[in-house]
Amino acid sequence: MQTKISNEFKNRFGSEGTFYASAGRINLIGEHTDYNGGFVFPGAIDKVIMAEIRPNGTDKVRLFSIDINETAEFGLEEADAPKAQWARYIFGVCRETIKRGGVVKGFDAVFAGNVPLGAGLSSSAALESCFAFALNDLFNGNTIDKFELARIGQSTEHNYCGVNCGIMDQFASVFGKKGNLMRLDCRSMEYEYFPFDPKGYTLVLIDSVVKHELVDSPYNKRRESCERVARRLGIETLRDATMESLNAIKGDITAEDYFRAKFVIEEKERVLAVCDALERGDYDTVGRKMYETHDGLSKDYEVSCEELDFLNDVARQCGVTGSRIMGGGFGGCTINLVKDELYDNFIATARERFNTRYGHEPKIYPVVISDGARRVE
Ligand code: ADP
Ligand code: MG
Repeated sequence: MQTKISNEFKNRFGSEGTFYASAGRINLIGEHTDYNGGFVFPGAIDKVIMAEIRPNGTDKVRLFSIDINETAEFGLEEADAPKAQWARYIFGVCRETIKRGGVVKGFDAVFAGNVPLGAGLSSSAALESCFAFALNDLFNGNTIDKFELARIGQSTEHNYCGVNCGIMDQFASVFGKKGNLMRLDCRSMEYEYFPFDPKGYTLVLIDSVVKHELVDSPYNKRRESCERVARRLGIETLRDATMESLNAIKGDITAEDYFRAKFVIEEKERVLAVCDALERGDYDTVGRKMYETHDGLSKDYEVSCEELDFLNDVARQCGVTGSRIMGGGFGGCTINLVKDELYDNFIATARERFNTRYGHEPKIYPVVISDGARRVE
């Protein structure tokens, strides 16, 4: 990838720049917990966006996207926003850096990536983090702290891409560290690295390639349930709820709200249990918790779908250590922790059975937990 970018950069801009990269991410466990003040547990992966960048001494940004095979050019004022969506991510990062008092001048850039687009691995966060990191290094002497780089990406999604996302994806992409997952406390924003080096196992995503509902309306309904229960308990978020406190008000809330809150409370505990298990190298427990999350998302939170439950069942039948929906639900991927000796059979079985049932093959993405945003020497 680097050679391809380098050749393209030389052809277009006649010189050499500096290479930067940032990664997509997975979330091992901790789903629908962010807006409840709970924990998420992401890690950066070995799928990246890589860019070669060089200041050009003007006030214009000139870009070439290898994967989309398009150029874009824009100035750095708010009114200069480009039309192409892919270029708006980079424009947004420039603008959000400037809005925070950072320096951005004109530059030339060529970039490419291998994070699958729209598969739930956050190619957009990889793109934002790559450029946010680069602008910090090239124009700001690395004075912008890493959390701010993540916020620059998040604000880009909010203000230039119409996506009202949380901070997890950009956080993971910026802070990612090889062989480590990061437990992020979504209430205090404190985080902690946990070694994740599952020797003898492979982490693999199986992408159902389906998307069933407009994500928004069921998502908002889940949020409203959580907020209602928290209000009834007199707390700010379900972070402070326990099963005891929930059971004490069971008679006053709807069954639906009860099961939504139950999932959130249990999921918070599961993230903590997985962290404990990782400290012991106990991947059986990690896997069991992943299945419990799947069941909770499917039965209590009701954000699964037939295809994802099907893939989860196949994982169970193939003896996979852990498997669950990753992401908001209603489609997308399952994340699976598989013993190496079972891997080939699992993948072949999942492909074949899914294809027979749904008429198309799922996509398979094995991932390794890797570094996040960085300068590439
Ligand atoms: P994801 O879940 O992968 O983040 P999004 O829809 O949020 O999906 O972001 C995908 C968008 O990010 C693409 O439509 C494109 O605009 C941009 N993007 C991601 N990867 C690349 C790439 N390699 N080259 C150009 N643009 C990219
Ligand atoms: Mg995205």
